[in-house]
Amino acid sequence: MFIKELEIDNFKSFGRKTTIPFFEGFTVVSGPNGSGKSNIIDAILFVLALSSSRNLRAEKLTDLINLNSNRNTAEVALTFSDGTTIRRKIKRTAAGYYSYNYMNNRLCKQSEVSAYLADHGIIPHGYNVVMQGDITRIMEMSDGERRRILDEIAGVAEFDQKRDQALAE
Ligand code: ATP
Ligand code: MG
Repeated sequence: MFIKELEIDNFKSFGRKTTIPFFEGFTVVSGPNGSGKSNIIDAILFVLALSSSRNLRAEKLTDLINLNSNRNTAEVALTFSDGTTIRRKIKRTAAGYYSYNYMNNRLCKQSEVSAYLADHGIIPHGYNVVMQGDITRIMEMSDGERRRILDEIAGVAEFDQKRDQALAE
């Protein structure tokens, strides 16, 4: 399975609704400094709920809303090759913000989205996204730490956890 399309609306530097196609295998995004390449990655992390606002290079979630707009919402939708679309929207309110999740344009709980993603190996704290500097960090890790990451990618960690749980019971 792969990401087919990303739709960004009023999120960070994307003031207007922007649709970005992705291809099976390999997609490269290029552009001048400050043109929004990393913001595209931030949008993906946001809709997958894989990152705190801090890792999205924003102090708080509402900072993700485009600064030059008078709208109080930002949203990102991601369509996978199986035809499923997940969407996350944040709305600024007087007290803070609301967050909404949708699957195939139906409002749903975040847990429903995360269950779908987990079925495809996308889990919070998992190694789904290799960020800038990660390769250096992995090279400099101890053998034990590196093994833990590999176990997680291979899907072994989940079974180790279940085994430990069963043994403890
Ligand atoms: P580089 O090549 O330097 O890594 P980049 O293409 O990755 O650049 P980004 O970091 O994605 O660039 O984009 C940075 C731009 O996004 C900055 O100009 C910043 O002002 C803008 N930006 C970030 N958050 C918002 C926001 N909430 N509203 C409007 N613009 C924003
Ligand atoms: Mg960048």
